[in-house]
Amino acid sequence: GLPRILNIIRTPFDEQATLIITQDITAAEQLNATRTAFVANVSHELRTPLTVINGFLETLTDMPELPQEQRQSFIALMSKESARMRNLLADLLTLSRLESQTDISMRKQPVNLTALAEQVVHAARILSADKHTFVCELATDIWVNGIQQDLYNAFSNLLFNAVRYTPPQGTIAVRLTSEQYQHDFWRAIFQVSDTGAGIAAEHIPHLTERFYRVDSGRSRQSGGTGLGLAIVKHALAEHNGKLQIESVVGSGSTFCAILPQMKSDKRLDSCGTLA
Ligand code: ADP
Repeated sequence: GLPRILNIIRTPFDEQATLIITQDITAAEQLNATRTAFVANVSHELRTPLTVINGFLETLTDMPELPQEQRQSFIALMSKESARMRNLLADLLTLSRLESQTDISMRKQPVNLTALAEQVVHAARILSADKHTFVCELATDIWVNGIQQDLYNAFSNLLFNAVRYTPPQGTIAVRLTSEQYQHDFWRAIFQVSDTGAGIAAEHIPHLTERFYRVDSGRSRQSGGTGLGLAIVKHALAEHNGKLQIESVVGSGSTFCAILPQMKSDKRLDSCGTLA
């Protein structure tokens, strides 16, 4: 963008000389606009469940004669909405923590991705409640230098999305592999494939933006906060990794988290950075 002229000063000593002070404010303005949009989104996301809860509270208060069954169903809906708010706040805190971290490299430790993937698959099976078939292929003894909790967040968001966006009877395949990508470097690939509805190509570049949803009704219905893939992106970037997304509408999606791996001798200084 063009720089904004802040001030034009005619120097008192030389009639010919003019001092022009400018500032490039485009970046600052953009950041401001992003921030404003983010606050508006968060407010909206919190207000929706609050409105629902308040509505049911009023009904319950004003109509003591309501049958017990109906009261119970209102209470169940209120607790669902309050869980949504709790999840949103948890994701907001995770995201802000990921963004404001400083001493990351000091806090990194060897993390066993195989064990981590097993934990995440276990949690996803519970979320799925036997509605899906899981196919798992996890290579043993894959390590990265990283922050366990952030890697857990990344993997679980990918796998929980697969569960939430795949209709019952669908198949979810989880693979953890390791491949050599340069003479001396290996990378770990955590791949989640589902047989869900798939995502149209024009949406794919935007999926990691905060609150970007392909179908917001469906996302809310499935308990989504709209922040899951933004968290994945940040958590992987913190490990010099990246996210790859491939999808075919009508047949399913594949999300790959790719992370530079530790050498087999597990030395801390042996991690590469992905191009
Ligand atoms: P949400 O909480 O809405 O799921 P995410 O950031 O995790 O937010 O995902 C962003 C959007 O990407 C979702 O709203 C959904 O439209 C789409 N999406 C994510 N994962 C999948 C998947 N496995 N299959 C189909 N669509 C998906």
